[in-house]
Amino acid sequence: MSKLRAGPSDRRAAGDVREQLPAGVRMNTLQRVAATGGIAAIVLLLGVLIFDGISNSHEARDAIRSSHRMIEAAQATLQDITNAETGQRGYLITHDEDYLAPYHEALLAITADTSALRRLAGADSVHKRQLDSLSKRIDAKLSELAVTVALARSGGPDSARAEVLTNRGKVAMDDIRGVLGQLSAHQDALLAERIAASDKHYRVVTVTDVAGTSGAVLLALLLNMMLTRYADGQAVAARMLLAQNSELNDANKLLGEQTLELELQNHQLQEQTVELESQQIQLEEQASELEMQAEELVASVEELQLQSSVAEEARVRAEEATARAEDASQAKSLFLTTMSHELRTPLNAIGGYVDLLAMEIRGPLVEAQKDDLRRIKKSGQHLLSLINDILNLAKIESGQLDLRIRDVSLASVLENVEALVTPQFGAKGIKYVYPRCDASLRVRADSEKLQQILLNLLSNACKFTNSGGRVSVECDALSDAEADHRATVSLRVRDSGRGIASEKLEEIFEPFVQIDRHLTGSSQQGVGLGLAISRDLARSMSGDLMAESELGVGTTFVLTLPRGTIGVGAGVPAESVAAASSQRPS
Ligand code: ADP
Repeated sequence: MSKLRAGPSDRRAAGDVREQLPAGVRMNTLQRVAATGGIAAIVLLLGVLIFDGISNSHEARDAIRSSHRMIEAAQATLQDITNAETGQRGYLITHDEDYLAPYHEALLAITADTSALRRLAGADSVHKRQLDSLSKRIDAKLSELAVTVALARSGGPDSARAEVLTNRGKVAMDDIRGVLGQLSAHQDALLAERIAASDKHYRVVTVTDVAGTSGAVLLALLLNMMLTRYADGQAVAARMLLAQNSELNDANKLLGEQTLELELQNHQLQEQTVELESQQIQLEEQASELEMQAEELVASVEELQLQSSVAEEARVRAEEATARAEDASQAKSLFLTTMSHELRTPLNAIGGYVDLLAMEIRGPLVEAQKDDLRRIKKSGQHLLSLINDILNLAKIESGQLDLRIRDVSLASVLENVEALVTPQFGAKGIKYVYPRCDASLRVRADSEKLQQILLNLLSNACKFTNSGGRVSVECDALSDAEADHRATVSLRVRDSGRGIASEKLEEIFEPFVQIDRHLTGSSQQGVGLGLAISRDLARSMSGDLMAESELGVGTTFVLTLPRGTIGVGAGVPAESVAAASSQRPS
């Protein structure tokens, strides 16, 4: 928008600006009318009045001039008649025709002057009557003059003299003077009136001129003052308008930018609308698909509800079965405990009597009897160890096993175990690689149970590894970097024996499970409880026992236990823990 061009909004703005101006610099309607037409009206009125006064003055001057001409014409007429009479008198005296020249000239002048009198008299009735009377008297005088001149020519001076002596000519002359005197008097009166009228018009014109000019000057000054204030106001308004105009320009520019931005947003909105429409179509398709799926789901839910009621029935039956199984397990554990106790008492007694006999307290024995007693003793010990295993398992499963958990030095435990298993490995020709454990490495465990687990694993390794094989124990301290309290220690018992099929790796931890029992020699016989007890013990101590194996290559049993406090020995207080009941189904 141009700064100088005023559009409708600018005019509105100008109106607003004028509203803000002080009352003194604004013009009301009357002042505007006065400013635009006041002086013109006054000048027009003045002109009309002066024109009227001048016109009247001109008329009065013409009338005065007419009066003067009338008086002059009357005097000229009297002079003409006097000149005619003078020529007549000269001729009558001299009888010389030359003296009649003024008489003839006067006759012509009298006609012209009386005509002028009539023209100047116009419609004035007084003058008309006076001129009629004057014409009659002039005719009478001219007739007396013509008669006397004719008598002088024809009869001589005496006959003319008689006529003159009749005094007719003198009377006519006196009448003429009288009429002309009246005419002049009337004209003098008119002249006086006209001069007075002329003076009056002159005064009116003068007063009107002075008053009108003064009024016009005053009004012009007033208007000048008003216009000056108005112009000042207009200048202020113009400045304010300019300021507002520049503000408007700024606003306009901003508006333009905002309009552009809005157009851009509009464009984006249109694109989004198109996208939304396509998404809506997709959604509608998905909605119809979902409806179909919902219908299918409703059908599935109904089916599931049906299955759920069936499952609920199954669950109730399973709970009942579990309760029965738990009861049976308790009964079995109680039975095993009782039976183990009942079996161990006579077995111990048998062992005692065998010892008595072997010591030959009852009398000397032959060598064959001594061999028999040794076999009886060995079988009794084997039986006792079986019974102990069963008793242990029963105790663990019934939650009656007492554990003394404390920080245990792995090195010392392995040293104890080593002393027990070394003779076995040596007898069978198996290379036993001694464990190299950090002397400060400790685990949280019951040391007897830990020893029991290790003995079981090592004796199994010895049992299922052929002569010339190799058995080793490795220690690993595993640490969970994020949670140190979950640090564990793992012990790997590795052998190069026959190995276990992968599908059997879990099965071997079940009680009374033995793989390839026929391959196991009579000296290696067990009942399949060692691993079951070992795993239960490991788990009771917050650890675990797992197996890794490859057929024909060897087996590794991995025992994990919580790590103990480094460098702290037996001084760490022991926890007394009752082993949790085994989760294994009986
Ligand atoms: P037992 O040794 O008294 O038979 P275990 O529970 O200790 O009972 O072992 C269960 C079975 O697991 C064994 O009979 C054997 O078949 C298998 N087994 C255990 N340790 C090994 C091993 N180191 N190598 C191969 N097989 C093994």
